[in-house]
Amino acid sequence: MRKKVVAGNWKCNTTLQEGVELAIAVNQLVAEKGAKDVVVVLGTPFTHLTSVISAIDSKRIGVAAQNCAAEAKGAFTGEVSASMVKSTGAEYVILGHSERREYYGETSEILNKKLALALENSLTPIYCCGEALAIRNAGTQNEYVINQLKETVFQLSAEDFKKIIIAYEPIWAIGTGVTATTEQAQEMHKALREAVAEKFGQEIANETSILYGGSCNAKNANELFANPDVDGGLIGGASLKAEDFIQIINAY
Ligand code: PEP
Repeated sequence: MRKKVVAGNWKCNTTLQEGVELAIAVNQLVAEKGAKDVVVVLGTPFTHLTSVISAIDSKRIGVAAQNCAAEAKGAFTGEVSASMVKSTGAEYVILGHSERREYYGETSEILNKKLALALENSLTPIYCCGEALAIRNAGTQNEYVINQLKETVFQLSAEDFKKIIIAYEPIWAIGTGVTATTEQAQEMHKALREAVAEKFGQEIANETSILYGGSCNAKNANELFANPDVDGGLIGGASLKAEDFIQIINAY
């Protein structure tokens, strides 16, 4: 059965001390009342990875970087490689977030290099895809998002694709307070699962976790996660409050 995953994306928020405090609070709530069948992941800034990993029970909570370099190593000032991420003890890496695509020019070509390096270093990519409002308004969102997959994760072998978590994040819903309706989320997730089935077969499609992201919070998670093809969430703003985050973890 495919995994249910609730992953927090802290983005460029929290000092190291604040991040560790938040991780400790989430860890405590997960230990006290976290749903046992949900994989919980904290996507922290690079600077926090080691300290957050030391502060949590790694049997219950995984940790993700929010990016990794497109090169393995070398003269790339300021970059953090997949092997460096792995060496902190992190198990996941968020790749292709729309903010990275939009503000840092991440193309499918760059993402393919990052995906390959993440997989070579045994990191689980949480691969983000999603359309802008103009594409949604034009009604071409399904083709657009499936094409994002075709250009990237569908280039992988079936063996490697099985290691990927997909996060559908409509750009118009990220950080805006506007959430996709439960119908919009289900329609897209179903279309993505069908595309995975077409490419890699039904068995792999059935096992692929497809998360929803975009203003998902403690109030609406329940309804969104009730959809048969929504396997959890990638959570931005609401992952910065431990009390909200635990409610989302327990929203199934
Ligand atoms: C995100 O950036 O991955 C995200 C889903 O953000 P928010 O929940 O704040 O919309």
